[in-house]
Amino acid sequence: MEPPEPAPDVDVLVVGAGITGIYQLYRALEEGFTACLLEAGDGVGGTWYWNRYPGAQFDSESYTYGYLFSKELYDDWEWHEHFAHQPEIERYLNHVVDRFDLRRHIRFDALVTAAVYDESSGTWAVVATDGTELRTRFLIAATGVLSVPHFPDVPGREDFRGEQHHTGLWPNTPVDFAGKRVAVIGTGSSGVQIIPVIAAEVAELTVYQRTANWCTPLNNAPITPGQQARLRAEFEGMREVLNTSQSGFLHPPHDRAAFDDSKEERRAFFEKMWNSPGFSKLTSNYTDLLFDGAANAEWCSFVAEKIRGIVEDPEIAEQLIPEDHRFGEHRPPFVTGYFETYNRPNVSLVDLRETPILRMTETGIETANGLRELDVIVWATGFDFGTGALRRMGIRGRDSIALEDHWADGPTTFLGVQTTGFPNFFFPGGPHAAAGNNPRYNGDQVDFVTNTLVHVRDHGYDTIEVEPDAEMRWTSMVDKWATMPPSFGEKSYYFGSNIPGKPRRYLLNAGGRPKLFKEVARVRDNDYEAFRLSRSP
Ligand code: NAP
Repeated sequence: MEPPEPAPDVDVLVVGAGITGIYQLYRALEEGFTACLLEAGDGVGGTWYWNRYPGAQFDSESYTYGYLFSKELYDDWEWHEHFAHQPEIERYLNHVVDRFDLRRHIRFDALVTAAVYDESSGTWAVVATDGTELRTRFLIAATGVLSVPHFPDVPGREDFRGEQHHTGLWPNTPVDFAGKRVAVIGTGSSGVQIIPVIAAEVAELTVYQRTANWCTPLNNAPITPGQQARLRAEFEGMREVLNTSQSGFLHPPHDRAAFDDSKEERRAFFEKMWNSPGFSKLTSNYTDLLFDGAANAEWCSFVAEKIRGIVEDPEIAEQLIPEDHRFGEHRPPFVTGYFETYNRPNVSLVDLRETPILRMTETGIETANGLRELDVIVWATGFDFGTGALRRMGIRGRDSIALEDHWADGPTTFLGVQTTGFPNFFFPGGPHAAAGNNPRYNGDQVDFVTNTLVHVRDHGYDTIEVEPDAEMRWTSMVDKWATMPPSFGEKSYYFGSNIPGKPRRYLLNAGGRPKLFKEVARVRDNDYEAFRLSRSP
């Protein structure tokens, strides 16, 4: 007699307690699946747990980033700022987990090190660092796209005797900057958030910049009582917009191209954009901003003039103005008091294009200009974007294929949620996902995955795997759209270009939500024919 096949311990195992994983856990339980979530950290929050550096905050409006699935949840949480800071975000996510009694399904300090598919039973055997060994029918990695910090390979990095911290792996206990000589390396969204916040506290701050970015004001503010009341009253309408808009933001799109307006009108409009909140500089700007080089160049000139008007030292101002890319070509950071920071006497800027880092020593950082002695180094040097976490989890699919080998030339996916050869495995919020306001897009994917699991269960199937044709169609769409305007080339980390040796392949879905919505409807209307569904023998 055949030995009994291993039975799953749970129907659904989710990895990662970030915004996407928490929602996935909630949805799986709501649909009646047994579920468990494994989280590497000792608290919930994912990105918003690890990135607890001073100044970390949303640059999407708080109420558009939070969950929309429960009006009660929406009503009983009051955001204090239009763009909440990390402590409030972490409190919110803890609130959600407790409000829906999810914590008892979560195991903390449980970094997944292996997940192996067993073809005979259609289940996954998952192992984690806390000693967890679980068998699950469906494995859902909600491990995020910005979850593996990147440390550049600088000679002597281990020799430095002071403190070193990466913004994406920030310690749980406060870092004492008072009176210290501090370096921040990197001027992406994380670097430009921490720089102004610590500048007043440190004795000396040295910013090491390789590429200047098109930073514009975040324009954060407290939410007034009147605005709070409106946010409550308008929930349904707001949810409708957020659930259907292309970008997942509330910002109304503009209806004019740049050269429909006179020069004076454009200037007035750019001024309005400069003073508008966060991403509206992209989503509500001229319709051709990202398509017409001349329109983009005029906006860039406007921003450059603003920088020159703020930064007192003309040489530093020029160094802070990007020369090698247009607005929108890199993910634009949004700032509060960033350029003003360079007017402080204790802040200096090192342009790494002129004087690259040669090495680190026991006492500091050496460039062609000599050694600068330091007490603390902050690495704001980004992440192994998109595939970083998934490639490190020990995922082995059918015939023991390693996911990292399957994706040796970059990810191939269907809808950014499944890949061939890995049945019953999903990764919402992973590569080929979020274009726009992340939680909205990732939430769409979680809803799709959950509905798919319900379909599998209710039709008596045990396994589901995307058909190669469907995967090829989606991946070709991603690759094709990545080369079309408004994409500007391969300079951004969206193509993996910040990680030495990583294949240059687009890691987001440039087609955005419209493509996702269309394909999801097609799957539903065609009875899930994009997938191979089967029963265990
Ligand atoms: P990032 O945008 O990848 O920026 C990394 C920075 O480190 C860049 O300035 C980069 O310079 C520099 N760098 C990398 N390797 C270097 C090296 N070897 N030597 C010197 N400099 C080096 O990373 P991030 O700032 O952490 O942001 C990543 C993403 O996280 C953002 O784009 C955003 O999506 C998200 N984020 C969001 C918020 C928010 O407000 N919600 C805040 C922070 C981050 P080069 O440009 O020359 O490579």
